[in-house]
Amino acid sequence: MKIICIGRNYAKHIEELANEKPEHPVVFLKPDSAILPKKMPFFIPPFSNDVHYEVEVLVKINRVGKHISPKFAHKYYEEVGLGIDFTARDVQAKCKEKGLPWEKAKAFDGSAVIGDFYPKEQFDLQNLSFQLKKNDAIVQDGNTNAMLWQIDELISYVSQYFTIKKGDVIFTGTPAGVGEVKEGDVLIGVLKGKEAFQIKVK
Ligand code: ZN
Repeated sequence: MKIICIGRNYAKHIEELANEKPEHPVVFLKPDSAILPKKMPFFIPPFSNDVHYEVEVLVKINRVGKHISPKFAHKYYEEVGLGIDFTARDVQAKCKEKGLPWEKAKAFDGSAVIGDFYPKEQFDLQNLSFQLKKNDAIVQDGNTNAMLWQIDELISYVSQYFTIKKGDVIFTGTPAGVGEVKEGDVLIGVLKGKEAFQIKVK
């Protein structure tokens, strides 16, 4: 399986990192080795002094497809969930400065937290609230109604470049409020009131 990630999909997050609003979705990949095994803590990697959490709504692909139109994209997933796109912000800043790829900052081992999935019927996908709590304080409070590109548009867009396959997961971008993790932090993801993951940082 592969993980397809979307960057800059919420206007307020674009502002907080002083990025330009993109003309098309920003897309990058994480390999399956990036997945943090269930119930494992997240270990801050030794090559970074500034690892950020980014809570994101996830979509699990359930069939193979390419060149999917937005109108039919809903047939390619049954479940949505919540996860974290851990980002070594200092490493990413160096990559951006030099125009280099982001993999070292975004695709390292443990950088993809994939929480529980739920049937999509349980939610209004265009108005789905989600939060990240850090040590019991809400640090990110998002809603899919603020996405620049909705889920079906994202599936359509990425499928123009990559064949999507059963088991692939799409990270749909993070809202504002990203910040650094420290050893000892506990991160809890909440999707419309349901706890979708809990991660200890070590
Ligand atoms: Zn992200």
